Amino acid sequence: MSTITQNPKSKSFETRLFINGKFVEASDGGKFPLISPATGEKFVEVSEATEDDTNAAVAAAKAAFPAWSALAPRERGLYLKKLAALVRESHDELAELEALSMGRPVSAYFEAHMAADDLDHYSEAGYQSLGTSSVNNPGYVNMTMRQPYGVAAGIIPWNVPVLFLVYKSAAALITGNTVVIKSSEKAPLTSAKVATLVEKAGFPPGVFNIISGHGHISGNVLSHHMDVRVLSFTGSSQTGRLIQQAAAKSNLKNVYLELGGKSPAIIFPDCNIDKAVRQTKHSIQFNSGQACMANSRIYVHESIADTFLEKFQKAFVVESGDPLLPGTDHGPQVDEIQYNQVRKYIEDGKTVAKMSLGEQSLNHKNGYFVQPTIFVQTPEDAKIMKEEIFGPVVSINTFSTENEVVAKANDTEYGLYAAVYTKDISLAMRMAKKLEAGSVGVNCTSPTNFLDMPFGGYKASGIGREGWHYSLDNYLETKTVMVELDDE
Ligand code: NAD
Repeated sequence: MSTITQNPKSKSFETRLFINGKFVEASDGGKFPLISPATGEKFVEVSEATEDDTNAAVAAAKAAFPAWSALAPRERGLYLKKLAALVRESHDELAELEALSMGRPVSAYFEAHMAADDLDHYSEAGYQSLGTSSVNNPGYVNMTMRQPYGVAAGIIPWNVPVLFLVYKSAAALITGNTVVIKSSEKAPLTSAKVATLVEKAGFPPGVFNIISGHGHISGNVLSHHMDVRVLSFTGSSQTGRLIQQAAAKSNLKNVYLELGGKSPAIIFPDCNIDKAVRQTKHSIQFNSGQACMANSRIYVHESIADTFLEKFQKAFVVESGDPLLPGTDHGPQVDEIQYNQVRKYIEDGKTVAKMSLGEQSLNHKNGYFVQPTIFVQTPEDAKIMKEEIFGPVVSINTFSTENEVVAKANDTEYGLYAAVYTKDISLAMRMAKKLEAGSVGVNCTSPTNFLDMPFGGYKASGIGREGWHYSLDNYLETKTVMVELDDE
């Protein structure tokens, strides 16, 4: 077990707001503290965007819109291309910033490469925004035009910040929208770092604004803002509902919601058990269980349940400690609130289910570490089976028939991701059709997903889809133009 060696106080960080091409402090000088989740110590203060600052960012984006949307997609793409290269080069620094602010081990950091790939893709995707035409109606030539909305806002969570920042800005920018992104108050440092790269890439002032602060202040202003025409949000279902309400109460802006999950993984007896164990364990351990699509419910066929559980217990062993050390594969929960919430769910689980792994202390003074925890024989209506825990806590239950497991897997308000392990292709495809989830992995599980495939949720896991063939549409209005032709 490693001790926590980092000394973030000795480092310097960008912590200001990036509005209209300039780094500025909050207008009232307000800041909020960042506490290292690995040590429990405050290490830096970050600017808290006020209502005025948020309005200024939207006003800057609105002012920049006419010139930006008038550029050819190729010209807009040049900025995205430059930003992609800068993000890729900054991989190690971004990994370190995330380790410091939200505790993700640097060994598990992949986001900069994926975000850069996304930016590269969109840098050349602008010419795909095409309308349609129709000569079906005699005497008319009709067509549609695809046009940007204007100001697009993005509100992102703390668990995979750089990726969400890019998902919510690249497609919006290449289609001619201007953007305001609000980072999460729990992990704002990588977004502020990306803002320095936006400056370096030379984006015209106001096109790409990045602010930090709490949801009830700047987030609330963005979701109610009359000049924000489209808003993409990733975060909890609870906040998603507030954002949808704010849109309805203000200008009925278009809202895309990527929300929480309670994803099932279903293990049939004919599968490759070792692979199923390895991958389902990774799914719930990655990011200390703080992943929207983590398979927090595993259903194993009763005939292999003992073998699966024994192997899973052996595999669910972690090297916890300083997230900055390359040997660490398990960091802390993001903050004290999240830590206490996970602990509360574990206590609750103990009253209804059998704990088959957990409770040993991870022994890191003042850090918010939770030991991987397995519950078995959990009643299907238990809180820990219904609510998103967002920690390294998994329930492993059994089933005997296909219909039974489909009913159990779908008995949730969430529908983000489901996985099925079997070598029987017909069974796999029957399951893929029946499972109520935006993504289904067959012989693979989350976090497996691909940028060229749509991602999003059924039911309360969200509204809309993100992905290369989908996100462009999210940021384009459709206008019908009808042209009546004079007789010859
Ligand atoms: P959260 O809802 O607490 O916060 C997300 C963002 O919303 C933050 O930037 C926050 O400041 C802001 N916010 C909070 N209250 C607001 C308000 N009233 N108005 C406007 N903005 C507000 O979520 P979180 O804790 O940051 O992230 C974890 C959640 O995100 C989990 O539920 C997880 O499942 C979900 N998530 C979903 C996906 C997905 O793609 N479906 C991906 C990652 C995380």
